[in-house]
Amino acid sequence: MLCGVGVCTRWRPGSSDAFRSVTLNRQSTPQGPARKDRDRSGTVPRDELEEVRKRQLIEVTIDSLAEVGFVGSTLAQIASRANVSPGLVAHYFGDKDGLLEAAFRTLGRRLAEGVRAQLRGMQTPRGRIQAIIDTNLGPAEFTQRTGSAWLAFWGQVPHFRGLKRVQNAYQRRMLANLRHALRRLLPAAEARSLAATIAAMIDGVWLRAALSNWQEADSESARALLTAFVDARLSEYSAPARPDLASSSRSVVGTSDAQIVQTATTFQSINPATGALLAEIRVDGAQEVEAAVQAAWRAQKKWAAMSATERGRILRRAADILRSRNAELAHLETCDTGKPIQETSVVDVASGADCFEYFGGVAASLAGEHLDLGSQAFGYTRREPLGVVAGIGAWNYPLQIACWKTAPALACGNAMIFKPAELTPLTAIKLQEVLAAAGLPEGVFQVVQGYADTGRLLTRHPRIRKVSVTGAVATGKAVMADGAATLKHLTLELGGKSPLIVFEDARLDNAVAGALLGNFYSAGEVCSNGTRVFVHRSIKTVFLEKLARRVTAMRIGDPLDPRTQVGALISERHMEKVLGYIARGQAEGARVVVGGYRVTTGDLAKGYFVAPTIFDECHDDMLIARDEIFGPVMTVLAFDTEEEVIARANATEFGLAAGVFTADLTRAHRVIAALQAGTCWINHYNITPIELRFGGMKLSGLGRENGRAALEHYTQLKSVYVAMADVESPY
Ligand code: NDP
Repeated sequence: MLCGVGVCTRWRPGSSDAFRSVTLNRQSTPQGPARKDRDRSGTVPRDELEEVRKRQLIEVTIDSLAEVGFVGSTLAQIASRANVSPGLVAHYFGDKDGLLEAAFRTLGRRLAEGVRAQLRGMQTPRGRIQAIIDTNLGPAEFTQRTGSAWLAFWGQVPHFRGLKRVQNAYQRRMLANLRHALRRLLPAAEARSLAATIAAMIDGVWLRAALSNWQEADSESARALLTAFVDARLSEYSAPARPDLASSSRSVVGTSDAQIVQTATTFQSINPATGALLAEIRVDGAQEVEAAVQAAWRAQKKWAAMSATERGRILRRAADILRSRNAELAHLETCDTGKPIQETSVVDVASGADCFEYFGGVAASLAGEHLDLGSQAFGYTRREPLGVVAGIGAWNYPLQIACWKTAPALACGNAMIFKPAELTPLTAIKLQEVLAAAGLPEGVFQVVQGYADTGRLLTRHPRIRKVSVTGAVATGKAVMADGAATLKHLTLELGGKSPLIVFEDARLDNAVAGALLGNFYSAGEVCSNGTRVFVHRSIKTVFLEKLARRVTAMRIGDPLDPRTQVGALISERHMEKVLGYIARGQAEGARVVVGGYRVTTGDLAKGYFVAPTIFDECHDDMLIARDEIFGPVMTVLAFDTEEEVIARANATEFGLAAGVFTADLTRAHRVIAALQAGTCWINHYNITPIELRFGGMKLSGLGRENGRAALEHYTQLKSVYVAMADVESPY
């Protein structure tokens, strides 16, 4: 049988999706391409139809390679999967080699188009490197289907010239893109070498995923791995020559606070608003972490032996000292994070102090329970500390995060080793001073400094019984995996993409204020931010007008100026990421209502400032409406019904927070009950009193911080049976 006459039948449902509705039978009426492409008789021109047929066969080939591999994918098998005659396949592609080459080209072309689209939105070399990583390992590419097909091709490349040509083109393009970006950051030889390494790592990650039978195929972790690698390599190249610290003791943390550094590995803390060097800090390695664990192990026994009332008293004293040093600590936090002093002086230190006060107060109420087991016995439970625990912090609220983890841990009789994010290492050191001044015995609270590797030393240490981490979802997964070997208790406070829903009956000014608080406080670097603002269609225009008016009036400037409302983002790399998302939003068709650019007026050019940005005309499937951006970027989405908005609000892998603005309290409670989020607000947003537990559902985390719930996460229960009669035994 020849070229499509005869046995061609309808497209088989369940096979590749792109052109399912088009028939392969020349005699039947095609339904796929748009109406404007049809000729007068209502049928699709023959050339186009042939193209559609070819593409269908290529998709079937990719399916086949993914399912039965190269050897199993014969012309006859592919023809049978497509419900066409082998002759038709041969007609279009010649032989199996021709078909495979065409399929390989299709995969390569798709990837190249994806990379090109991402690169268009990137303004900096680092952003361009990220675009290449993100596209190659993005969720659309990093799947079993596509990955298995690539792997099948790679296996055959040495044997088929056609495949080799496609592979060469793919490799050349990737290397050229990487080199082009890297050459603006590094000398040519280093750029070439690092480009080759990154390309090899991308291929290696694919290979690992395939070899694990796609069990280890997690696009987000794969991208995080490559990102961390690139950052580490770039920072090595850009690091200034290290001073010989071994031969001279020197002070770190500004000029007045002495912490003696005697090892050669350090990192720098930079003020992100000015680029000024704030401190040089020692990276703690295995030896230092081991020493900290040993010291904590000894100290914890004595700390746990004190009465809870005594422990509580020390914690409450720490709260008082924090408040008395508010101005100094807020100043340091502002320099380290770039957040406005008008925020740090009323929130960051104060929230930490509240936390020590609260847990200092509840320490003495820690108790087990008594259980009546009849006249012959009773039972009781003891709530005991876990032992040595570790806290690992993110960079957005460094002091607050350290306090939120440390206060409940200490109240329960644990010793805490805390590692701040390497971008914001300073206030945790101050907390150590505050706790010492409050009378905390030495070793009960210690700070170790460094990058993720230092964190890993904690999460893998057998003597550390629990890790509480605040960070990205990928970090939470890595910590969970690392903690598995020693079955650690975990609290994971991770990222979010939270919905804020404004119904048509809401008090509009309150809703606007809530949306502002939930998007632009701390320049949007807040995990619980309500960045998906769903507004009822009937009020969206007026809502946006009010919002835009207030955002335009926001004051961006020097974070130390008390009038400044929007400070700097944490780092250049983070700023590039945020700007990349803004560009991507525009490329996807969203409309910038206000903002959308980096602010470089005067001295602000030295720092990393981005104007608060509002996007209108967004869709749920746009990247800016799906990914956590962690910057001042709000997406506004219109909705029509309560049922619809609940479904859309829940259609995310995150579940950290949610907010509802409505005058109808019955509806408010009904909607909140239906939302999948751990922390919710009705007619407000982002308020976090210490009494109320805080934490996420789904990929936003495990466990809770604050409130009495935190006590459960820093203790373990011992059950005791007490007999009050003779022991009866059948033996
Ligand atoms: P990261 O996840 O990058 O880092 C968090 C901390 O974990 C840092 O101290 C980091 O070290 C450390 N770390 C990273 N990898 C590992 C590892 N494998 N093992 C042990 N420690 C590790 O988060 P960011 O600091 O960038 O903070 C932003 C993220 O934090 C956002 O996703 C945000 O949503 C989330 N967040 C969540 C909050 C919540 O309460 N739910 C609150 C605030 C932020 P280092 O940075 O020094 O390399």
